[in-house]
Amino acid sequence: MKLHIGIDDTDSPNGMCTTYLGAMLYREISRVAEPLDLPKLIRLNPNVPYKTRGNGAVAMSFEVEEDDVPKIKELVLKMVESLADFNHENTNPGVVFLKGEVPKRLEDFTYRAIWEHVTIKEAEEVARETNAEIYKFKLGRGIIGALAAIGHPLRNFTYELLAYRKREFWGTERRVNKESVFEADKLTYPFTYDNVDPFKGSVLITPHGKDPVLVGIRGIDKNKVLWAFENIIIEEPVEFFQIYKTNQNTDEHLRFRKIDELKPLESAIVKGRVSRSYWEKGRHVFFELSDDTGTIRVAAFEPTKGFRRYVRMLIEGDEIIAAGGIKEFNGVLTLNLEKFYPIKLAEKITYEKPKCPKCGGTMKSKGDYLKCKKCGHKMPKILIPKKLPREIEKKIYEVPPDARKHLSRPLVLPLGEEKILEAFEKS
Ligand code: ATP
Repeated sequence: MKLHIGIDDTDSPNGMCTTYLGAMLYREISRVAEPLDLPKLIRLNPNVPYKTRGNGAVAMSFEVEEDDVPKIKELVLKMVESLADFNHENTNPGVVFLKGEVPKRLEDFTYRAIWEHVTIKEAEEVARETNAEIYKFKLGRGIIGALAAIGHPLRNFTYELLAYRKREFWGTERRVNKESVFEADKLTYPFTYDNVDPFKGSVLITPHGKDPVLVGIRGIDKNKVLWAFENIIIEEPVEFFQIYKTNQNTDEHLRFRKIDELKPLESAIVKGRVSRSYWEKGRHVFFELSDDTGTIRVAAFEPTKGFRRYVRMLIEGDEIIAAGGIKEFNGVLTLNLEKFYPIKLAEKITYEKPKCPKCGGTMKSKGDYLKCKKCGHKMPKILIPKKLPREIEKKIYEVPPDARKHLSRPLVLPLGEEKILEAFEKS
């Protein structure tokens, strides 16, 4: 029989990582049961407030002997109990077991957990209806992610290879040779991606926290991901590694919405007209976007760095498609920009003073009229409109890799532009 196992919310900023626990479980359970596929790393709604980092949950499926089920369950629960970071108030682990085929009802729940905010009670209801067995530790909020990870069909997916550190190294600086990462990137990009930030000259595969992850290598080709890992020089011992199949970089959090449908904690793609061009507060850049149903504030926050330059190039009247998460920022509903596509550019006009019709001299504004600086000739103030070139192009712009949400699809990947273009067709 098939046995599906889901886990979530075992980690905190102080340590641990649900993928680490998942990888250990996958290895241990594979000794007694046949894995049906690689384990799944499922990213859920990136806007929920409870997340530690990227709102990821883990699930795995096995062909098992009925008699082995109790001991597998015991192993999972024991491992979660011994490894989860129970000291942190925001760590509320959840474990779910499901036997047989994954019902459609659970798949529907998964997409709700990617698009919306769901409650623990709703997760409990779905578990009851689908005969999933849930185990809650503390608040047990992790059952939301655990159920959603089991329910994800992964029709579109990417890979991430995660290598973990020996416990004695947790919390210390990660020792990965920078040049070797650039070299491996050069040979495997774009089949592996987000290894480096070429503009900053920095390495992106190493996280910075106290968690056990040493490196994470993402890609669309499993073999190239593995090759990159094998060719990167790691100057500390690796405890073990695991390749996950994941919904990262699939854009599946984005749905086409009208502005009056936008809700906090959701993500969306909207088409609208720039109704107020940019202003800045601190290092954040804002503008307003309107459609026939309303107006929303759009933000490119400081961490999006060079991306803000393109946002400043937008002017009133530009028609754009904008994608991002919806949050309240300083009490105002705000779309936190991930990508945008200017589809119709307004004309940028400046008004210039004419030359003096008598002597060709320079005119000076004097209230309602113009006066020549050279010969003193006066005339009504009629300015000449002049079209300025637009610097921005009709193409999709995206935030840099280190500011990108796990679910957001980089433009370099096949179908990276699909969601935005789909929104264009629908509008
Ligand atoms: P990591 O990426 O390191 O695994 P994390 O960012 O995944 O950490 P968690 O510790 O898993 O953070 O916390 C996220 C919590 O939010 C989990 O309890 C999960 O069940 C819950 N959750 C996930 N999606 C939703 C949702 N759509 N609505 C409400 N709660 C959710």
